[in-house]
Amino acid sequence: MLIRTEDLKKVFVSGDHIKHAALRGIDVEIKRGEFTVIAGPSGSGKTTFLNIVGTLDSPTEGKVFFKDKDLDSLSKREKTDMRLLSIGFVFQAYNLLNVLSAEENVEYVLLLQGMKKRERRDKAMELLKAVGLEGLENRRPNQLSGGQQQRVAVARALASNPELVLADEPTANLDQTTGRELMELMLDLNRERGVTFLIASHDRMVIDHARRLIRLLDGRIVVDEIQN
Ligand code: ADP
Ligand code: MG
Repeated sequence: MLIRTEDLKKVFVSGDHIKHAALRGIDVEIKRGEFTVIAGPSGSGKTTFLNIVGTLDSPTEGKVFFKDKDLDSLSKREKTDMRLLSIGFVFQAYNLLNVLSAEENVEYVLLLQGMKKRERRDKAMELLKAVGLEGLENRRPNQLSGGQQQRVAVARALASNPELVLADEPTANLDQTTGRELMELMLDLNRERGVTFLIASHDRMVIDHARRLIRLLDGRIVVDEIQN
């Protein structure tokens, strides 16, 4: 098992002491190689769930295990290492560094890991080719379309050979066709490289690409099924 959560709960307290239960007891197991879409209306807890699994936030109650390791037992440093080495992130807004080229954006992750220059470059070029950006490696983000920028973000997310890629509304800023192409790309990477994906989205098209669909409603799982 790659990820297992046990009665995961998250309560947000706003400034005026009003409590909001964003997650109300999530029990889920994600296996290696799965391609899962977390759906549900806005406010249902998708981002909160992804952030907790990605160690960007912690639960109010309950547990998350990453490869049987309780995330609670990790130090801050170990969590940072985990985000750097084991998890790839893809965000709605791409979050690329604008002063760096596409190739450098991917290479940067490898630099943080201490990989040597030549190796870094080869790996970054290989990944950019895998996401269909061969020939565009030297462009900066503002010289690329939204869809191309999101492909760079996917290449960057894959740079550390992560065990899990988390994507939060990855198609939100893309048109239908470009969004579909991005989903096809992620499915290919799942099939060909065995990358495990966990994608949060309320986009119908994204949901149609799910291999496993989990629907959240008001912080609870209401559907969890393997598709077709
Ligand atoms: P989704 O991604 O499905 O739209 P979220 O996980 O972002 O849902 O939010 C779930 C609920 O938790 C929403 O009602 C939201 O307003 C609330 N929430 C999320 N983050 C915070 C926060 N930092 N502080 C207070 N409430 C929050
Ligand atoms: Mg969200």
